[in-house]
Amino acid sequence: MKVKVIGAGLAGAEAALYLANRGVKVALYDLKPNAFTPAHKSEKFAELVCSNSLKSNDVFGNAAGLLKEELRLLGSITMEAAELSKVPAGGALAVNREEFSAYITEKITSNPNIEFISEEIKKVPTDGFTIIATGPLTTAPLSESIGKLAGSLYFYDASAPIIAADSIDMDSAFIGDRYNKGDGDHINCPMNKDEYCAFYDALIVAERATLHEFEKSDVFEGCMPVEVMAARGKDTLRFGPLKPAGLDDPKTGRWAYATLQLRKEDKAGTMYNMVGFQTNLKFGEQKRVFSMIPALKNAEFLRYGVMHRNTFINSPKALNPDFSFKEYPMVFVAGQISGVEGYVESAGSGLLAAIYAERKLKGEREVLISENTVLGALSRYITTENKNFQPMNANFGILPPLSVRDKKERKRLMAERSLAAVREFIIEIN
Ligand SMILES: Cc1cc2nc3c(=O)[nH]c(=O)nc-3n(C[C@H](O)[C@H](O)[C@H](O)COP(=O)(O)OP(=O)(O)OC[C@H]3O[C@@H](n4cnc5c(N)ncnc54)[C@H](O)[C@@H]3O)c2cc1C
Repeated sequence: MKVKVIGAGLAGAEAALYLANRGVKVALYDLKPNAFTPAHKSEKFAELVCSNSLKSNDVFGNAAGLLKEELRLLGSITMEAAELSKVPAGGALAVNREEFSAYITEKITSNPNIEFISEEIKKVPTDGFTIIATGPLTTAPLSESIGKLAGSLYFYDASAPIIAADSIDMDSAFIGDRYNKGDGDHINCPMNKDEYCAFYDALIVAERATLHEFEKSDVFEGCMPVEVMAARGKDTLRFGPLKPAGLDDPKTGRWAYATLQLRKEDKAGTMYNMVGFQTNLKFGEQKRVFSMIPALKNAEFLRYGVMHRNTFINSPKALNPDFSFKEYPMVFVAGQISGVEGYVESAGSGLLAAIYAERKLKGEREVLISENTVLGALSRYITTENKNFQPMNANFGILPPLSVRDKKERKRLMAERSLAAVREFIIEIN
């Protein structure tokens, strides 16, 4: 049986080559080179549409670096291509974009098990094994078809930063819900008038990230960036995301001048989301300005807020833990459209989807990668119930916690735990 892989981007290329190298026949579809999305320009596959950096290469101190090592162990083509096309970039792994894509393209076109078809797929094929990997700029007809299968589809990322719980200064914060309605799921970060004014003045002049042309239309109506809301007037935020009403500060017994709420991002409470703080500020500016909130003075930003054109499904509702649709277990979703965020995350999800699809295709028992790995933790994140689901990238906050006080040592131990789990996974799937 032939597996259809739709989309020859980061996830699709990885999936197609994994399957083909294991003897599975693949029909790989992409718009290219006959047509392009608004961001893709090259005729080659696995195109890096923006930055040429694949982020940190630090295996034992950074989750993005650890994810890379997991992928290397699993034989990822993305990592192979990156190694061969890398350019100096300090602690990051950056590549020569052309060489990177050319290498992967050559591997695909020379593989006898892959038939490439340049065609826009408009409807998800549900009659056989399929991996959908058409990315954040999936064309409209296919988006509609995916949305029907998934029950819903989102077109913009509008996410607020996520903070590591253990970096919140609890001497300047308190736990509680507005008017005590809730189960103590919020951490509240109060500000007095002077603190608010200083924060506000910095926020309205902070530098924003540039949007691409195709992202500039009136897209952000329903999810206004906090800096845009702030620019409407000095008190607008105090009636919006910084509303202090109903939040009694136990230190004063009164409502503060302004209060930011942080909401649990995961069940374990290791990560907190800045409620209502979706933002388009540059990452460095987010750190600088948001750290002016006293409780966040030492905040570790696990994920910065982003606002851009994206297409992703509500995976926690629609997908099984192996990325197949609950309703269509032969149809898998991989890459950015599944709710992971980033080049390497997308490639990793393509690789995992292919591993899982191959086992299902061959009637082998399901083996899921451990959630102690970045890959496994990301998979669990996107397939576990979550009322406020937004795409996620690699970070240590999504991994099961380890009770080791020293942060550096904790990360190192988490990385070791992860790599051991990947090795076990490789034994199991072979
Ligand atoms: C403008 C932009 C900039 C980004 N910059 C970065 C960045 O700097 N760093 C980072 O880590 N991440 C970035 N991302 C996010 C994301 O990591 C990348 O988009 C990544 O390429 C996603 O991988 P993917 O495999 O899911 O999709 P893609 O790599 O986009 O691959 C999808 C493929 O599917 C094809 N396709 C689409 N619709 C159809 C269809 N109907 N039929 C057939 N083929 C179709 C496309 O031509 C494309 O080749 C960016 C996203 C966007 C939109």
